[in-house]
Amino acid sequence: IWQRMIDLLDLHKHFILTHLGPGDVAVDFTMGNGHDTEFLSRTVGPAGHVYAFDIQEQAIESTARHLKEAGCPENYTLIHASHHLVKDYVKEPFRAGMFNLGYLPGGDKRITTMRETTMPAIAAAIDLMAPDAILNIAVYPGHAEGEAEGKMICEYLEGLSRHKVCATLVKILNSPTSPFFIMVETKPPKSV
Ligand code: SAM
Repeated sequence: IWQRMIDLLDLHKHFILTHLGPGDVAVDFTMGNGHDTEFLSRTVGPAGHVYAFDIQEQAIESTARHLKEAGCPENYTLIHASHHLVKDYVKEPFRAGMFNLGYLPGGDKRITTMRETTMPAIAAAIDLMAPDAILNIAVYPGHAEGEAEGKMICEYLEGLSRHKVCATLVKILNSPTSPFFIMVETKPPKSV
């Protein structure tokens, strides 16, 4: 299969950059090896802040090392806890949040995101969104839990009021097991 001109999971960064800038607050709900945390840290700069979550000690260590080596500003808090507990740690609204679901690349494939924590985490994340904010969710339907997780998330978001959020699906229709992503956006302060 030929490579797409634009990688779908790079495209979500484009959408994040339409909401996030210097001085903002961002949350990485699945830090893994810290590549998304790095992107968020650079985008919000020294005046902003990034909170990042993972349940694996290995991810915290790997991300801490990665952010130092990459020369990121010291604007981040790495949290060793499940993302569904986000409200215990993040007390301010955020402008961008990222969920990159599934398992840690190069790690234990049995430790994957699971519906029973992913769903309350997404609900809590939506509560914490500032006006004109974005929440991006990358889903990997190529494994059984990922497929079920994706369906449940889509059903949940389909039921939310358009007065509250706009939820968009970006998916390759003729490649059903390829990763896809979902954007949840809140309206800017002055729009009706
Ligand atoms: N964003 C990462 C990067 O740039 O390297 C990749 C994330 S990886 C696909 C998914 C991560 O989610 C894994 O590191 C896994 O440990 C983590 N995870 C699984 N369940 C979690 C939970 N309940 N709360 C927080 N992180 C979780």
